[in-house]
This record gives sequence, structure tokens and C-alpha cells, in this order.
Amino acid sequence: MRSIAVINQKGGVGKTTSAVNLAAALAESGRRVCLMDLDPQAHASLHMGITAHGDSPSMYEVLCGDASLSQARQQVNEHISVIPSNLDLAAAELELAGEVGREMILRDRLAEDEADFDYLILDCPPSLGILTLNALVAVKEVFLPLQPHFLALHGLSKLLRTVEVVSRRLNSRLRLTGVMLCMYDSNTRLAAEVSTDIDEFFHASKGSRDFFCEAKFFETRIRRNIRLAEAPSFGQSIFQYSPESNGAADYRALAQEVLWQEKNQDSSPLKSAPLKSAA
Ligand code: ADP
Ligand code: MG
Repeated sequence: MRSIAVINQKGGVGKTTSAVNLAAALAESGRRVCLMDLDPQAHASLHMGITAHGDSPSMYEVLCGDASLSQARQQVNEHISVIPSNLDLAAAELELAGEVGREMILRDRLAEDEADFDYLILDCPPSLGILTLNALVAVKEVFLPLQPHFLALHGLSKLLRTVEVVSRRLNSRLRLTGVMLCMYDSNTRLAAEVSTDIDEFFHASKGSRDFFCEAKFFETRIRRNIRLAEAPSFGQSIFQYSPESNGAADYRALAQEVLWQEKNQDSSPLKSAPLKSAA
């Protein structure tokens, strides 16, 4: 199973839109996908048309209570399940503050979970707090959505340092494997310039740090598309809401790149790493 946390401590960069529609696109390609909502705002749950009501357990009960992932999981269709969140999850930060091993709870819950998925996608909140840390300890891959802003790379060093520290201290398998540009305006010069900056930044850092070595700046640009902004209020992915839109086309194309990584993971540097260190 590939497990991917979609993170960026900034809000409004396209994390939820990407987590939901990438999950839906992968499901459309026949993969079995579980989408986990780690944001107390529950936008991903709502986007998938799922609510965690009083009697059904959610991410809060999984992290702060006794619920298992399978108890909290809700099936959306043949290929997608969602583990929803709700506002209760906002209390997790405080409630877990004094708990030993609080960053490892989700990893342990996943280890107990017997369900079999091809992809686990985690939509993270806009912070680098305990919820995002739980995600980073539990997964193998990080995807980073960025907006083509003048300040796109601003604040990135803190985020990358966090990923690096987690990969060094708590989760040695953790790798940044994907960077994508969201809300792209193809006819602006700024978008193209920022795109080049990001390319150069990741290219330059690539060889220098382990957790970067497989980072791929996806060629697909997620264009700004009003249908993507409308779909959540109908509780539908872009493929249900507007399958012919540019938004659907872009997330389909992104999913193809993600699937392509899957095919190439066998020959990825991860496998050759021991050889390198032995040399
Ligand atoms: P985050 O999860 O990082 O806070 P969201 O995915 O919720 O960001 O996106 C922020 C807002 O922008 C939402 O209202 C969303 O519907 C909208 N949005 C996201 N991506 C696009 C896009 N490509 N085109 C138009 N609107 C978008
Ligand atoms: Mg979000």
C-alpha cells in the first residue's frame, strides 16, 4: 500500500481539493483507496459527502479514544472509503499534549488495521501540529501542493525541516515524493516564473538530503477551475460533479503520474540505497 500525506502548513493552497480528487481519480483507475481526513474542519469528509455524526466514530475517537480505523471507516463506493473527521478533532492537540508517544498513535492504529488498500491518502490540517505529525509518522510519502505565488517557497524551509526531522528521528521510510502546483493560471508570467523557481529549488536540493531523493515535481499543473471550487458544496468529487471539466482532466493527468511512480517504485533509489551505502 502506498500511504501519502498531503501537507502544507498554509491554508487554501489546494491540499483538500488535491487529496479528494486524487483519491477519486485513483479510484477511477481501479485502485482501492482510503481517504483519511485529519483536519478538524472536515472539508475532505464533506467534499466526499460524508459526515461523522454523533453515533459513528471519527478520527477523533481513533486518536483520542478506543475506536479502530475500521470502526470509523465509511465506504463511499466500491473503490473509496473515507475516515471522516469533525470539529471534535480540534481538541486532540490539547488532549494529547501530555501523552507519551502521542505522535505514534496513528501509526499504531494503522498497524492494527487489517483492511487492504492500494492507496491511503491523508488530508492534513494547515499546521505542523500533532495531527500532521501523526500523519508524517504513519505514512511513507509526502505530497506537497503549492500555489504559484511570489511567496510559494516562503515558509517551505520550516515545513521541509519538519519532514526531515521526522524522517530522521521517527520514521526513516518517510520521503517527499511529490510536489504539485495548484490553482495555476497558465496565461500569467508569474505562474511560469514560480514554476521555474520551484523546479530549480527541488532540483538543487535533490542530491543533498535523503528524504528528497525521490521528490518529483509533477508535470501536471492543476489549473484554476471554478468547477473544482463548486464540487465540495455538492458533496461530490470533480468526477461526479463535472467529469468533462478542466479540473477533472488535470486530476486525471496527475493520477496518471502518480500511478506511473507506482510502476517505477521497484527500481527506485529506495531499493538501491543499501548498495550505495555499502559502496
Ligand atoms: P487547503 O486544503 O490547502 O486549505 P483547499 O483545497 O480547500 O485548500 O482549497 C482552497 C479553496 O480553493 C477551496 O475553496 C477550493 O475549492 C478552492 N480551489 C482549490 N483548488 C482550486 C482550483 N484548481 N481552481 C479553483 N479553485 C480551487
Ligand atoms: Mg484543507
